Amino acid sequence: MATVRLENLRKTFDSGRLVAVDDLSLSVDHGEFLTVVGPSGCGKSTTLRMIAGLERPTSGSVAIGGDDVTDTHARKRDVAMVFQNYALYPHKTVMGNMEFGLRMSTDLSKEERRERVRETAEMMDIEELLEDKPSELSGGQKQRVALGRAIVREPDVFLFDEPLSNLDAKLRTTMRTEIQRLQDELDITAIYVTHDQEEAMTMGDKIAILDDGELQQTGRPTDVYDDPANEFVGGFVGSPSMNVLDAVVDNAADGVTLRGATADFTYDLSSAYADVFEGVEEVRMGIRPEDVRVAGDGSTGITTTVDVIEPIGSDNYLYLDLGPEFIARVDSGITPAVGEGIEITFDEMAVHVFDPRTGESLT
Ligand code: ATP
Repeated sequence: MATVRLENLRKTFDSGRLVAVDDLSLSVDHGEFLTVVGPSGCGKSTTLRMIAGLERPTSGSVAIGGDDVTDTHARKRDVAMVFQNYALYPHKTVMGNMEFGLRMSTDLSKEERRERVRETAEMMDIEELLEDKPSELSGGQKQRVALGRAIVREPDVFLFDEPLSNLDAKLRTTMRTEIQRLQDELDITAIYVTHDQEEAMTMGDKIAILDDGELQQTGRPTDVYDDPANEFVGGFVGSPSMNVLDAVVDNAADGVTLRGATADFTYDLSSAYADVFEGVEEVRMGIRPEDVRVAGDGSTGITTTVDVIEPIGSDNYLYLDLGPEFIARVDSGITPAVGEGIEITFDEMAVHVFDPRTGESLT
């Protein structure tokens, strides 16, 4: 069973001055698809390279299938890695590229190797390309070959480092589905690094969010979306980003009122929230754009003004005068005039509350 377990993994560069990955512990079950996401420089690739054996951890351990492989050479680990830039040998044909890894890692005869490449090529729909050189292929075809080269080795663990970043949007969507199908069919454990939160959310059984070398949260994509552990995760997951407003807390016996600190609004929560806000004076209040509703006449809500309307086809984004960027994502049929005052509202269950000092979620 190809589980992957990282324990207290740390990697520094520059004689310890740069901490790329800090005390990272994480486990991936057999057959699970983990996506690792975070902003540029947060340590995603370094983590993946430590799992592959291409980078040596400063401290901590990597175990694959229950075996500690921290000191095992990359070639001896049963993993295959797919890179953003394909990393194909330019002078070899597709057959040569796919066969090469097999020659290194198995003792199959040449005919057996070629047979296995042909079977994989058929599965990947690239059998027509076997005699071509990489320079004769499109970006999408090169990535299929790179995937095929990884699959043909029948690894226990698949590692992907932003494999679709060089492809256009349509092809990216097709390849996402294809990678998921293959991973599922082959029952392989996969760890997939991307900076694209949408890709991470749609592809992963489980998602790990990193920032500044540290794991912020891990869990099923829906759980992370519904219950972000902190303000960073709340803002990183979901598009457009979660709106966040500074508010002061008025915790009275009959309910909790949040009053805007920089924007002029009040929002009442039921007394069910009294415990959450006990002793809390200031909060950062988060509401996702898709949770904001334009209220009808007479309902109690927050009064504001529409600064800009951005139609995106199915929906409209309303930029509201509540903060530097406060967006409501509403149905395309809702088209208030720019400059017009409107009332917005949201379910109290949709309100996220963060500690302004630590960023940690209070709800
Ligand atoms: P990106 O999305 O931009 O690829 P990332 O999240 O994959 O970023 P890493 O490539 O893991 O981030 O880099 C993490 C940090 O470690 C960065 O500050 C980077 O500059 C630094 N770093 C990575 N590799 C090295 C190296 N070989 N030598 C020195 N610093 C490095």
